[in-house]
Amino acid sequence: MSVLVFIECADGKVKKSSLEAAFYGNQVATQLGTSAVGVAIGEVAADELKNLGQYGITKVLHDTEARLKDYVSQAYVKVVAAAAEKESASVIVLSNTNIGTGIGARLAARLQASYATNVVALPEISGETLKVKKTVFSGKAFADEVLTAATKIIALKKNAIEVAPTGSAEAGVEPFTTPLTDADFSGTPQETIRATGDVLLTEADIVVSGGRGLRGPENWHLIEDLAKALGAATACSKPVADVEWRPHHEHVGQTGITISPNLYIAVGISGAIQHLAGVNSSKVIVVINKDPEAPFFKAADYGIVGDVFEVVPKLIEAAKAL
Ligand code: FAD
Repeated sequence: MSVLVFIECADGKVKKSSLEAAFYGNQVATQLGTSAVGVAIGEVAADELKNLGQYGITKVLHDTEARLKDYVSQAYVKVVAAAAEKESASVIVLSNTNIGTGIGARLAARLQASYATNVVALPEISGETLKVKKTVFSGKAFADEVLTAATKIIALKKNAIEVAPTGSAEAGVEPFTTPLTDADFSGTPQETIRATGDVLLTEADIVVSGGRGLRGPENWHLIEDLAKALGAATACSKPVADVEWRPHHEHVGQTGITISPNLYIAVGISGAIQHLAGVNSSKVIVVINKDPEAPFFKAADYGIVGDVFEVVPKLIEAAKAL
């Protein structure tokens, strides 16, 4: 029996959300009196995988088959399922990302497992059952869910737990091969277009986001310059993507991407409920809006009532001076 952690990688590196999943998996393993093993797929530097030892992972199974270079749901699920079988995993931990939750759902069907998404805390263990705390209704409330099947799958929400690397031993990296057929790759993407920007939106610690208050794409340099000065990713509200001021992959909210950065700076965004649904689990929210009655101020930790064209240049100067 072990706890298996799916290690998501991008650009040859382990994603930050997977470091959290690794640390969480190790905590669960400790509760269960067992160890945490990782499974990584595709191109990633060996040192990145060894470094998972600092997060409590003892060993990483690494499947490097060439066809697995890009994410293909069915094939990835088969690899994780094979790793779970090899390690007799009773608990599988993934990040609550698009890829993580996609794999989790298929895996749950395949393994007849209990599956909880949006999990935000360590489980309470009682005999064969695990009780997990998760967010529901777009982060507006919490619910406890009891997982009873022999195999339990947990999708951990980003930024939900404090991670403290131990600095101890390296994880062992073990080559892992899974028998895959051509049919497993029937959903292979023909082309993968990289999101623009230096920092990946879903992984970013800081996000600077713009709304219709920016008046047009010609003013987006304000968002980009502030983001650059802070080492942040950029995002936008839905109407901004709808009118093509920004690409759709930057649109956050109920119908866009859900993010949980440490700092979310909303510039000229009203704070409609559908927008908040994607950002309300950010640790700190800063709102800049000229309308003191803008609904976003109710969700903000800090608010600046002012014109973005006056406030943001000053913030950029201040951030550059940090
Ligand atoms: P606006 O509502 O036009 O607000 C612009 C804000 O900028 C105002 O508060 C204004 O005071 C401020 N402003 C204007 N000029 C300045 C200035 N010079 N300086 C400072 N402030 C200024 N929206 C999303 O974002 N994400 C979603 O996923 C999403 N999903 C939706 C799903 C459904 C089913 C529906 C019906 C709607 C959805 N929406 C979503 C749309 C949402 O309801 C809002 O319409 C949208 O979020 C508003 O975008 P906005 O705040 O950029 O624009």
